[in-house]
Amino acid sequence: MTNIEATTSYEAMPVVTASGDLSDPLYSLLLQAVEERATDVHLDPVENGKMVRFRIDGVIYKKSVLAADEYQRVLTQVKVASGFSIDKSFVPEEGTLIFEHKDQGRRHNIRISITPAGHGREAIHFRFLTGRSMLKDLGELGMSTQHRQQVQTVLDSPTGIVLIAGITGSGKSSTMYSIAGALDLDRHVGVSIEDPIETYIPGLRQIEVDYEHDLLMHKGLRALLRMDPDAVFVGEIRDKASAVTTARAGIAGRLVVATLHAPDPATVIEAMNHYEVPRYVTASGLRLIISQHLLRRVCQECAVERDLTEEDLDIFSKYDMTPPAKVLKAQSCSKCRQYGYNGRIAVFELTTINNSLSQEIARDAGKATLLRRFREEGGAAAIADALDKVKAGIVSMEDARQLYLNTESWRI
Ligand SMILES: [Zn+2]
Repeated sequence: MTNIEATTSYEAMPVVTASGDLSDPLYSLLLQAVEERATDVHLDPVENGKMVRFRIDGVIYKKSVLAADEYQRVLTQVKVASGFSIDKSFVPEEGTLIFEHKDQGRRHNIRISITPAGHGREAIHFRFLTGRSMLKDLGELGMSTQHRQQVQTVLDSPTGIVLIAGITGSGKSSTMYSIAGALDLDRHVGVSIEDPIETYIPGLRQIEVDYEHDLLMHKGLRALLRMDPDAVFVGEIRDKASAVTTARAGIAGRLVVATLHAPDPATVIEAMNHYEVPRYVTASGLRLIISQHLLRRVCQECAVERDLTEEDLDIFSKYDMTPPAKVLKAQSCSKCRQYGYNGRIAVFELTTINNSLSQEIARDAGKATLLRRFREEGGAAAIADALDKVKAGIVSMEDARQLYLNTESWRI
């Protein structure tokens, strides 16, 4: 049986340990998820049991259907481990446990949510919190030489605001950590306020938001700003008070790097507006917007070359890019566990805010105008970076086209 201590305290989180064996449904489910690099596991009621789905590299895959009795064992184990009542759940409940891999000895923090799913049934969601954002340098994340140079220019004179934008799960925190890692933390006092801390950076003073003890984002941020910092990292801006405090810190001569939920660089300006940061404040403090998306890395073992279609050529020509003779198409093999892809890489749009763009932001230009002006002077769209990675044989044309359809096609 899996060894689980029933407690919800964070100091002594319940551990699903190495002693687990494969006949134990919870252990074998989590083991499979770890080995397939899943970030999320979903268990939902279907007619003949519970459907198991994994999210891997951002995509949902249906894995199996757990029989009712097996599911019941998993549910009971999870409830005991998380300190939930083992009676039926009528409200959503959240807990945490640690899974320890039998062979690798690696520990994985997992957040568990159990929600009622109608007719007295329950659904479970597991989110793997660790192992997702190990500290990497910007090049490893997928940032081009030119983009890294734009970041370096800011780090060479570390003042002003850098906003890292993307949708949920687009790798914003990893980029923030990489920038913190690139800053000389022996010579600069670096502090962060995060919700939650995903990776610990040597030399960075990191504070985690704690709702239970009323340590809210803006309160932590204000406390940190009194501690003589040179660089402040904020993950992420989600309310007016944090946005205003972040912006003020950025115009007071410090470097402030913050993540923000926005699909493109123009929406970043609108988001700051929405949080009631005056346009002139954003305009005077902002130095760089990093907008990003994650795409899957095509498996190099099994991918095959294919010719480009008219539609593919059309996308390349929209961005004035020379198309390659062939592009890679994902297949499947044992190396990629038949998924056709292996891990992910970020694609970026970096907008350095020069004087003229700053004036554009201050004069209240609309989203479409801002986006056009950003791309005239700031830098190319993220889709251009994706197409570069298609040319380099890292990303499939299929995924680049999907990004284009999701983010760009309706603008042109
Ligand atoms: Zn493969």
